[in-house]
Amino acid sequence: MKHHIVVLGAGYAGAITAGRVARRLRRDDVRITLVNAEPDFVERIRMHQLATGQDLTPRPLADLFKGTGVELRIARVTSIDVDAKTVTLDDGSPAQRLDYDTLVYALGSRWADQGVAGVTEHAHQIADRPGAVRLRDRLTELPAGSPVVVVGAGLTGLELATELAESRPDLDVALVARRGFGDWLSPKGRAHVRKVAADLGITVHEHTTVTAVEDGAVRTGTAAPIPSAATVWTAGFGVHPLAAATTLKLTGTGQIVVDDTMRSLSHPDVYAVGDAAYAMGPGDKPLRMSCASATPAAWQAADAIAARLTGARIPKAPIRYFHQCISLGRTQGLIQMVKADDTVTAHVWAGRGAARYKEFICKGAYWGVARPVMHPVRRRRTEAVGAVAA
Ligand SMILES: Cc1cc2nc3c(=O)[nH]c(=O)nc-3n(C[C@H](O)[C@H](O)[C@H](O)COP(=O)(O)OP(=O)(O)OC[C@H]3O[C@@H](n4cnc5c(N)ncnc54)[C@H](O)[C@@H]3O)c2cc1C
Repeated sequence: MKHHIVVLGAGYAGAITAGRVARRLRRDDVRITLVNAEPDFVERIRMHQLATGQDLTPRPLADLFKGTGVELRIARVTSIDVDAKTVTLDDGSPAQRLDYDTLVYALGSRWADQGVAGVTEHAHQIADRPGAVRLRDRLTELPAGSPVVVVGAGLTGLELATELAESRPDLDVALVARRGFGDWLSPKGRAHVRKVAADLGITVHEHTTVTAVEDGAVRTGTAAPIPSAATVWTAGFGVHPLAAATTLKLTGTGQIVVDDTMRSLSHPDVYAVGDAAYAMGPGDKPLRMSCASATPAAWQAADAIAARLTGARIPKAPIRYFHQCISLGRTQGLIQMVKADDTVTAHVWAGRGAARYKEFICKGAYWGVARPVMHPVRRRRTEAVGAVAA
């Protein structure tokens, strides 16, 4: 019997893990199944571009994994039983069961309303492709002068607001920041994002907490309601609720707690990678939900799975941060340098070159998904199929 590795989710983390495991192990020994709800690989870090009308290159997963030995299942995961080691899928036909020996959980994250009234009913989101497409359709309907409010001035909100103001200068774009605008950046970085926002005509509401989202307005705790023909909620991400229905050890926010090989602390045959995982990074700080950490975490999980199955030494992938790369529209960008633990330093790179570098990083993130598939390596014979549960 072949050892069956099931990877749930083909975002950055799951797709990289599946491709890399396939490179490391022989097809005679293992079967690898990759389950994803959508037939395409979605470049999630470009959702603000999609929402503002840019066309993204289609990336069919079937093409990506052709000839790799990874079996693709386009289906929604509806439940997981980590004690019986089964997963239930829904692909439109009667519910199907998939048994596994090793599970990789990479279902990512989704938008979270943070308990604020009216968000689910009245706000848009760009955490996934359907959300970005709905927002794009709404923006297309809006006449010149319409107010659009982006709630949340973190990386996602900042990238969306600038992209929107640049591509639709006829709209009245506002950005709501609960704290000071750009206050996590270095002084030079903060000054740059403030200048770009001002040049693009974005109204920034700092130190403002949104208490409710309504049809046509955003209510705040302190000031009069902000008029809004389209409100976009970027104020928080939460993880998929499927893990919470299992006996896996989780954090209070539902992330799966893993060790430094991305293996579950409670279930040794389960690995978690990407936004769904709670792993400690440099400086004993949990890894931030990001593509920047999902990629090396996926390398680590794949290498650990392959090593445990072949009896080899587990290599350690370096997981650290170098910079935060922020697009501010298509012509402006900010590269904020950080220490290994993501603490910002005084150094930044700002301007057109930074925008081009951010584009290079986005291409690189996709290349990281496709590369393990394009360059197969010599595979190792699986020696210790049972050892994975040790
Ligand atoms: C607009 C935007 C910009 C961003 N920019 C950056 C950036 O510049 N740099 C950076 O480092 N990070 C960025 N991020 C964060 C980054 O996108 C995420 O951290 C990253 O996508 C996490 O990868 P993942 O594989 O864990 O999850 P995802 O990429 O979300 O992949 C999860 C996969 O699971 C699938 N899935 C979900 N539920 C099910 C189910 N029930 N059944 C089957 N399949 C399912 C989804 O279809 C998806 O393919 C950005 C995020 C957004 C939204």
